[in-house]
Amino acid sequence: MIGNHPYRLEVALHDVIMAGDGWNITLPENPGARPIVQTVTENDEKCPVFGPAFLQKALNVVSDRAVRVRGEISTDWPRRSTKPDHDGVVRHPLWGGESDAWFCLHCSGKLTGIQLAQNLWHCPGCGASPLDIFDTAFWCDDEAKSLQPVKTEGAVDGDKPDFGVVDDRPKLELNGEKITLLIRSALLDDATNISEKLGALQAEITVDDENDVWISLEEDLWPQDKEPVQALIVAAKLGLEVELESTWSTIPFHWPGLGELTSSTSEYTQMMLDAYAQCDSLPNSKT
Ligand SMILES: [Zn+2]
Repeated sequence: MIGNHPYRLEVALHDVIMAGDGWNITLPENPGARPIVQTVTENDEKCPVFGPAFLQKALNVVSDRAVRVRGEISTDWPRRSTKPDHDGVVRHPLWGGESDAWFCLHCSGKLTGIQLAQNLWHCPGCGASPLDIFDTAFWCDDEAKSLQPVKTEGAVDGDKPDFGVVDDRPKLELNGEKITLLIRSALLDDATNISEKLGALQAEITVDDENDVWISLEEDLWPQDKEPVQALIVAAKLGLEVELESTWSTIPFHWPGLGELTSSTSEYTQMMLDAYAQCDSLPNSKT
């Protein structure tokens, strides 16, 4: 709690993250990186990180924690990784190898052991992690002669945070698939018997680039003169134009009229099974 603003403080992959309501501050593992302040809205008075006093306190909390995290990292490493010898030779913390000159695969910068020891093995030029630091520039043809040394910038405004707005409120992105789902659900609302339910489930629904909807309903399952009222309401709410059409194709079961007699799928299933069974037992001699 800072003032009356609660917060959570956590460490994820060596980054320290402080999160409150509508804001968070991340301090990356790289000691050269600035804190990143993210808010849901831009310069909202209710958001405490826009107040300099609050922000300073919060940054202190974050950086105190980061000091501990960095301390833990360097205790896990060989001593020579963070304490150069007289000649500035240091040991790579992850895969060993000792040298006073190192290279960053990410920006092709030339680094000294002292720079790396001071910067927790992050490249002071580009911020790359220890995974990108090597004692030979194996990717370079001219034995690293063309590579330039990376200057460690003075920490002039190194603690000044970068602000950014991240709106993580849920946003509706209507695509064809979601529109189809809603329309089909509405068709099911309109269906009053099993035949129509099957018609709704089998309806061909297509959404074009302008988000207009075509609904093709199977004639044998959905009565031609029946308006899918709910589907039209849903489409109107979504601001969509609807084209209705009747099609005639293969239906899943014979005797579609059976489905009009009930609104229970189990009842319908029984009637349909009975009908097929009856048909099966009829003598074939009629022909
Ligand atoms: Zn680099």
